[in-house]
Amino acid sequence: MIISGKELSVKLKAEMAEEVAELKAKYGRAPHLVVILVGEDPGSVSYVTGKAQACNALGIDNTTIRRPESATEEEILSLIRDLNADQNVDGILVQLPLPKHISEEKVIATISKEKDVDGFHPLNVAALWQKDRCILPCTPKGIIKLLKAAGVEIAGKRAVVIGRSNIVGLPVAKLLLDNNATVTIAHSRTQNLKEVCLGAEILVVAIGRPKFVTADMVAPGAVVIDVGVNRDPETGKLCGDVDYAAIEPIASHITPVPGGVGPMTITCLMENTIQCYKNFMA
Ligand code: NAP
Repeated sequence: MIISGKELSVKLKAEMAEEVAELKAKYGRAPHLVVILVGEDPGSVSYVTGKAQACNALGIDNTTIRRPESATEEEILSLIRDLNADQNVDGILVQLPLPKHISEEKVIATISKEKDVDGFHPLNVAALWQKDRCILPCTPKGIIKLLKAAGVEIAGKRAVVIGRSNIVGLPVAKLLLDNNATVTIAHSRTQNLKEVCLGAEILVVAIGRPKFVTADMVAPGAVVIDVGVNRDPETGKLCGDVDYAAIEPIASHITPVPGGVGPMTITCLMENTIQCYKNFMA
């Protein structure tokens, strides 16, 4: 079974568009997301454009603030502080990566925890690990939604997450654990990765290497979630971290790239923006 993040996103976005219209009628304004883009990196420009389009489709107000590559760290931090204080701004997102002379840690920590729609602020991360109320990071949140929508039972399953980044691997592992899976986190120093993967009933791959996971690493009937976004070196087309063509016939469920996890990330960003707005308005 192919788990389509694209299809689920269409459904969730339609529901959110209705909710936004109701909220606007109730509170007199729509949720407002501000995205800060520093520099001209084409990948970042494309991501930021996608976020604005998603907001527009849902009736969420959105502003993209562009600053040149030469912007100083203090200029960006000062901009964020102004947005933190702006009562008409519900969510703030700074597109990563930033130019080397700007500290991503400082930028993330400067965004108000209440407006941190990415869920990257240290206090949101701490709250996640302490099982407190928090804003969940978009990609991990989207993965859990995909699994649940596909009817995959997570509780009691053996889950393996390859990758331990702060934005994908670690929070995915934590959310799987919170859903009562037994979780193994694998990484670049893991020995016998194939054996570890073969023990997985749910395999989440977030590495960033095209077709790294091959069919001999996946147990028949496993659920495979491919987070990777890469270019296939042979065709130049977008591809994931798993060899989709070889694994699709043996997996019970699999997410394609594109059209799997990616659309859910942006959908969860919209959801987080609405959540921040509701928290503020309530
Ligand atoms: P990252 O920060 O570079 O982390 C990669 C992880 O993979 C690290 O933990 C690394 O281990 C591990 N790794 C690298 N080589 C490995 C190997 N040979 N064997 C086992 N583990 C290995 O990347 P990320 O930000 O988590 O992103 C991962 C992928 O997901 C990328 O393709 C990215 O573009 C994609 N992504 C997609 C979305 C989406 O919405 N679809 C969102 C975010 C990211 P060490 O810790 O030991 O170095």
